[in-house]
Amino acid sequence: MPITVEHVTHFLTAAAELIHAHRDELTALDAAIGDADHGANLDRGFAAVLARLPTVADKDIGTVLKTTGMTIVSTVGGASGPLYGTAFVRAGMALADRHEMSAEDVVLALEAALDGIVARGKAQPGEKTMVDALMPAVEALRTALADGRSLAQSLQAAVMAAEAGARATIPMLAMKGRASYLGERSIGHQDPGATSTAYILRALAMACRRNEEGA
Ligand code: ADP
Ligand code: MG
Repeated sequence: MPITVEHVTHFLTAAAELIHAHRDELTALDAAIGDADHGANLDRGFAAVLARLPTVADKDIGTVLKTTGMTIVSTVGGASGPLYGTAFVRAGMALADRHEMSAEDVVLALEAALDGIVARGKAQPGEKTMVDALMPAVEALRTALADGRSLAQSLQAAVMAAEAGARATIPMLAMKGRASYLGERSIGHQDPGATSTAYILRALAMACRRNEEGA
């Protein structure tokens, strides 16, 4: 079944719920190597996205994702607001005027999101950022689809890669953002942005699984 605006709405709703449920955990991770606002920042942003969704329910997927990105930019703040905002806007640009999308389109949208984050934040893999979760996730998604697995199964592989990527940030030295000010003291803590990226991808996988199950 193609993915429609309805499934994108399911994704964003699930993302908001997951971020809300893990708000304190994300804040605790940011307390260790940042300023303890990542959970609150994203929770505020996704709550604002949910409030905006009814105004774009009859629009195309690109418009919904671009609106999501602009809402995140204007409500999240910090480093992660412009980064996640750019990611959603770029994904929306990749899907402009589309009312349905295929597995290949999901790959294109996630690649555009990753490119947007890298263009904006200039982080390389291994620098202890959200890139360390998203990049291996996109890779795992491509590989699983090439192996003939369904989109939901492939996104599940992407989630596992993102979670492994987030855990792999623990021994890394932070080179970008606020955590980099800590130097060596950033070592030994999991990056909050990599962790939230894994939750957002989990929400996407949940929405696509629901679609494949015909719900
Ligand atoms: P702030 O650091 O301004 O308080 P947040 O706490 O909301 O913002 O987000 C911090 C997260 O942003 C980090 O954990 C990291 O994953 C991500 N981040 C920071 N700088 C960059 C960057 N240049 N590129 C990619 N991600 C980054
Ligand atoms: Mg912070």
